[in-house]
Amino acid sequence: MKTVNDFNFNGKKALIRVDFNVPQDENLKVTDNTRIVSAKPTIDKILKDGGSAILMTHLGRPKGQATDKFSLKHIVDEVSKVLGVSVKFVDECVGPKAEKAAADLKPGEVLLLENLRFHNEEEKGDEEFAKQLAKLGDIYVNDAFGTAHRAHASTAIIAKFFPSNKCFGLLMAKELDAIQKVLKTGEKPITAILGGSKVSSKITIIENILPVVDNLIIGGGMTYTFVKAQGGKIGKSICEDDKQDLALDILKKAKEQGVKVYLPEDSVVANDFSNDADIQIVDTKSIPDGWEGLDVGPKTVKTFSEVIKASKTILWNGPLGVFEMPNFAKGTKSIGDAIGEATKNGAFSLVGGGDSVAFVKQNNYTDKVSYVSTGGGAMLESLEGKELPGVAAVLKD
Ligand code: AMP
Repeated sequence: MKTVNDFNFNGKKALIRVDFNVPQDENLKVTDNTRIVSAKPTIDKILKDGGSAILMTHLGRPKGQATDKFSLKHIVDEVSKVLGVSVKFVDECVGPKAEKAAADLKPGEVLLLENLRFHNEEEKGDEEFAKQLAKLGDIYVNDAFGTAHRAHASTAIIAKFFPSNKCFGLLMAKELDAIQKVLKTGEKPITAILGGSKVSSKITIIENILPVVDNLIIGGGMTYTFVKAQGGKIGKSICEDDKQDLALDILKKAKEQGVKVYLPEDSVVANDFSNDADIQIVDTKSIPDGWEGLDVGPKTVKTFSEVIKASKTILWNGPLGVFEMPNFAKGTKSIGDAIGEATKNGAFSLVGGGDSVAFVKQNNYTDKVSYVSTGGGAMLESLEGKELPGVAAVLKD
């Protein structure tokens, strides 16, 4: 796997696919610059070598139309601030104007191209469009993990125009390394904690990780499909009735593969889907009619935490309860604490994909775990065992 550290960019123009699809307020001011900050180490390395950086990204869904709202001119100031360099901007990403701006770029300078998705060809993975983009730089760098699961012109197709001059950025390398550390070279015992609302959205991940993990902890809304399938009473808890056979099949496969599965023994149940509802703690297999499980109970937290603290490698995807409501966030918080403690004691922990990432950020667990993925869909597809087009294109000879 080649990264920017394998190249000397002195006098070279690096064409970097970044993911600057940042949230903005109504005045189009950037409200969260995490994605820009995440790309900084790659850009810094290139500039330090004496190279220049041409940044290309999409923003929002302009659907092939040049629209002021989605123009990258609105984020130039924020990019300049984060990078500590006065970033140049060109209101095209291909064609003579973009080519001139790229050609005029001097070592140490940074150029931001206009939104790639102002051209339909980007999302279509159009080869001619990719070729036009490729004209702009000497070395192609892919640092956009967030879009690595898409075979778009700038994320994958373009790589073929740089047969020996292509590599990953440092963010991308960190993401790939984290996945590798869990799924390929993880130190045992390896524990996966899967939560969230539905079995159906996690089934491919479960099937892919079963041969790898020692322990599978299941929490969140998914729990109740498993419990009902095993003959438990789940009240009005969320359940995918048509996935009960699948749930039993997962449990059977896990047993065959020697994976220990942990389901919540007790649940915090409520008589309404509301933070203000009445609450009681009951056995997960005997939830009274009219009540629904919205969080894991204290016994469960104790068991899960013990398993987590005895693990050397931890993967966490999905909350263990309806963490958006404070009264049902305790289980997820306790699991975050246990992962934090295990990490402090030397375990490697990866938080990836969707709502667990939001939870970790909102509750300041980011520094307590080893790595928090920046790519929702891309991380989920990696955990499902799928090859990401953006990764495959750079790895290809
Ligand atoms: P996912 O996107 O599949 O990871 O699901 C995340 C969502 O699952 C969050 O919005 C949680 O509120 C929800 N969730 C977690 N536990 C439960 C539960 N016991 N009942 C209903 N929804 C839940």
